[in-house]
Amino acid sequence: MALIVQKYGGTSVGDVERIQGVARRVARYKEAGHDVVVVVSAISGETNRLMAMGQQIGGDKPLPRELDVLLSSGEQVTIALLSMALMQLGVSAKSLLGDQVAVHTDSAFGKARIERIDTQTLKADLDQGVVPVVAGFQGVNGDGDITTLGRGGSDTSAVALAAALHADECEICTDVDGVYTADPRIIKDARRLDQVTFEEMLELASLGSKVLHPRSVEFAGRYKVPLRVLSTFQEGPGTLITMEMDNMEQAIVSGIAHALDEAKITVAGVPDIPGVASKILGPIGRKNIEVDMILQNTGADGLTDFTFTVKRQDFAEALATLENMAKEFSAREISGDDAIAKVSIVGVGMRSHAGVATRMFDALAAENINIQMISTSEIKISVVVAERYMELAVRALHAEFELHDQEQSANV
Ligand code: ASP
Ligand code: MG
Repeated sequence: MALIVQKYGGTSVGDVERIQGVARRVARYKEAGHDVVVVVSAISGETNRLMAMGQQIGGDKPLPRELDVLLSSGEQVTIALLSMALMQLGVSAKSLLGDQVAVHTDSAFGKARIERIDTQTLKADLDQGVVPVVAGFQGVNGDGDITTLGRGGSDTSAVALAAALHADECEICTDVDGVYTADPRIIKDARRLDQVTFEEMLELASLGSKVLHPRSVEFAGRYKVPLRVLSTFQEGPGTLITMEMDNMEQAIVSGIAHALDEAKITVAGVPDIPGVASKILGPIGRKNIEVDMILQNTGADGLTDFTFTVKRQDFAEALATLENMAKEFSAREISGDDAIAKVSIVGVGMRSHAGVATRMFDALAAENINIQMISTSEIKISVVVAERYMELAVRALHAEFELHDQEQSANV
């Protein structure tokens, strides 16, 4: 018998039939003798719908406190419906909002951070054989106001609950059956990974793999919560996110991620003197615009070029900010490009293998793909390429590092 926290995402609770399906899945775990705490998202599309209504009245930036009251309502619907569906199957269940649990957060509406979770209510319910069905994505601040954790935040709710309850496992039940070597929509013979380390998963999630919310992975790593991604709709072991790979022959590259949500800005012909980088990036930081990759050329004739990437949604604002400032750092030209893609290879095995970068660059060169920017860490290499080459780049790298599913390829 184990204590398992299960999180069901928006598509898993997409309509009443699916909610009944989730109830049957939870009931099977109960029958097997496990204690289960369930965390749910809103019905898929619902949070977007609520957001659109909020924006219709409040414009681009609706009042944060009220927006959180609005957005959190989606999860209130699904906890009630799922609890009813469980009771219909004879499983005692009880819906709980974030403040009923309580999930205490700071007051940053729209991107609140969990500070502490009370476990008495949940433990009392579990002791009675009741399945607590908790609203994901929401919490309560010190004033008793409802807060939300940021889009996709119910993964984090589940991991935080699992940590607070010292659960044996946190299952993220979703519409894919695990973490793949690359996006299976692009790579037909991508392989499901049985295991991946937290470090790798954190990179993959931050670099564009959409299976898990990056913050939830960070949380799971910090509190050592055993995390598993698996399908709501079909049986299977999914992917286990582990502290380290034991006894396994660690692959050099575990997976490939891609992201289309960045844009790059180049400030050309600036004086190659101390303080230029801070002059360029200072105003960007003050606008709360996050900068990802940064590249500065070796100076020539006392001038240098400076290139960096931002999220596409911040592109226009970042460009306008620099254009307004251009005189201050006497740049020759400021230009931008938002048709870029970031493609990354990730693997803890890179630590012990030389020449991985060269293999990556050779594979891209063989496809005539121009690399615009490069950034590396101990366990990842990312390149920026033109957006139109994204799929080709992912395919070339998937082949180069032999990540394909052997059986599937044999059948093709
Ligand atoms: N319903 C919220 C959202 O759509 C939270 C979640 O799904 O994780 O962002
Ligand atoms: Mg979601």
